[in-house]
Order: sequence, then C-alpha cells, then structure tokens
Amino acid sequence: MRKVLLIGLVVALSGCSAGRLVQDAAIDCNSCVAWNEPHEPVQIAENTWYVGTAGLSSILIATSDGLILLDGALPQSAPLIAENIESLGYSLRDIELIGLSHAHYDHSGGIAALARASRARVVALAPQAEALRLGRVTPDDPQYPSRPFPAVEQVEVIEDGWSVRMGYIRLTAVATPGHTPGGTSWLWNDCIGEECYDIAYVDSLTPISAQGFRFSNGIGDVLRQTTEIVADLECEIFLAPHPGRFGFADGPPFINPDGCGDYAASTNERLDERLAEEASD
Ligand SMILES: [Zn+2]
Repeated sequence: MRKVLLIGLVVALSGCSAGRLVQDAAIDCNSCVAWNEPHEPVQIAENTWYVGTAGLSSILIATSDGLILLDGALPQSAPLIAENIESLGYSLRDIELIGLSHAHYDHSGGIAALARASRARVVALAPQAEALRLGRVTPDDPQYPSRPFPAVEQVEVIEDGWSVRMGYIRLTAVATPGHTPGGTSWLWNDCIGEECYDIAYVDSLTPISAQGFRFSNGIGDVLRQTTEIVADLECEIFLAPHPGRFGFADGPPFINPDGCGDYAASTNERLDERLAEEASD
C-alpha cells in the first residue's frame, strides 16, 4: 500500500517537473543587470522570434516538428526566455533542439536550465561541446579563463555544415571560429508575408581576449578566414548574439542584405587594429 503511494508520488512529481524551469545560480558581471532587463518577444519572420532579454539574444524557430532555440543568454535569463516562449503559447517541452553561438557565459549560461526543463537535444561543434560539458571555456579560448557557467550534461557533437530539417525549416550550422574556437553561425530561411528570406544568426567575431593572449599567434588568421566565410553567407536578415549589433532597438523587419558583409568588414578593421597593437608591444 505504502509502495503504491510512493510510486504514485514519484510519477506525479516527475510529471510536474517536465517543462518546469529550475534556474541555476545567477552570474554577476558589470553588464549583467542591463543585459538581463526583460524584453517581450519580437517576431522576426513567420516562424522566427526573438525571445531573449533586452541585451542578449535568444532566437526561437517554431516548426511543425517542434521548436528550435538558439542561445540561452545568462543563467538568470533562462526564466525570462521561458516566460517569453510560454507567452507565445508554447511549452518548454516543445523545444526539440538547442544550439548556441559560442560558449561564453553570456550566451551559454541559460542553456543548462532550458535543456533540463525541455529535455531537448543540445548540439554543438566539438570545441563548444567540450566547453558546454565542462561549464567553462577551454584554454585555447582567447578570453580564457573567462567565467564558469552551468554545465550542460548531454551535448551532441556536430560537424561544420551540419543541417537538420524540421517541418519546412532547414537549419544549418557553419563554423565561424576566432572569437572562440567553436564559434558557430546558424542559417535558415523564413518568410515575411509573401517574401522569403535567408536568415543568418552570425556569431560574435570581436578580437578581444584576456591579458597576454595574442591574435598574432595564429587565431588572427583563423578569424580572418572566418570573415571571408561570413561575407559569403546567404544573408538577407542579419541577426547576432548581441542585439545592438543588428539594430534590434529599431524594431523589425531586420532585412539587411549588407549585414553580414558589413560585419565582416568591421571585424577586419578591428583585427587590423588589434594586430598592429600587438606588433607595437
Ligand atoms: Zn563572447
């Protein structure tokens, strides 16, 4: 009798936990409070929504085979992202796939909690997968040691060019390393009314680092090559992990066929400046 009750209780509790988000410890940083201001969802295209906070992107793609989520912002952003997803009428359990731009605490911090609540597949290129499982950046990251973030238990390793079809959406991952070793940009196509657009969620490309790291020791060449990849992306709607970069404050539509090319060009300028600084050290 007691055993039956206990089994009943366990079943009831596990039923409750599915789809319910349990937040990890918040990260404190100079920009964290401003970044984590709540923001209501913004529709980018028919099936594509911005569900992030005021200062950190999280992108939701709703397909007939379930939801795709790109980036989880800070640990303390996870409940805000969850609330935004639920306000659109979805459950966290509807998330089937989670990807990320790069494994720094301000983009990967919320992924662990969102993955636990949704039981979604988390996919990442090998260097990102390692960082996600460890909950910290690897020593080859320009910003190493950076800040630790909640580790993600299960991560599936994907290759450059990996793609998945869910409903009418085909999502493709493109390796764009340089800011981190596993930096990833994501491509798909979605429509606004009658017109359909190639959307590019382009990872951060900024050549910034912890003290002592030198972009002239090889990573600069990697980043330079990435700028060529980014300049060539199918890119009519340009999105980025930091919403200021794609003019989020101006509101949709974010149609900007020059977005990827402009970002590649400005990255090249910043990289030139950085290499010049290192040469004069
Ligand atoms: Zn970063």
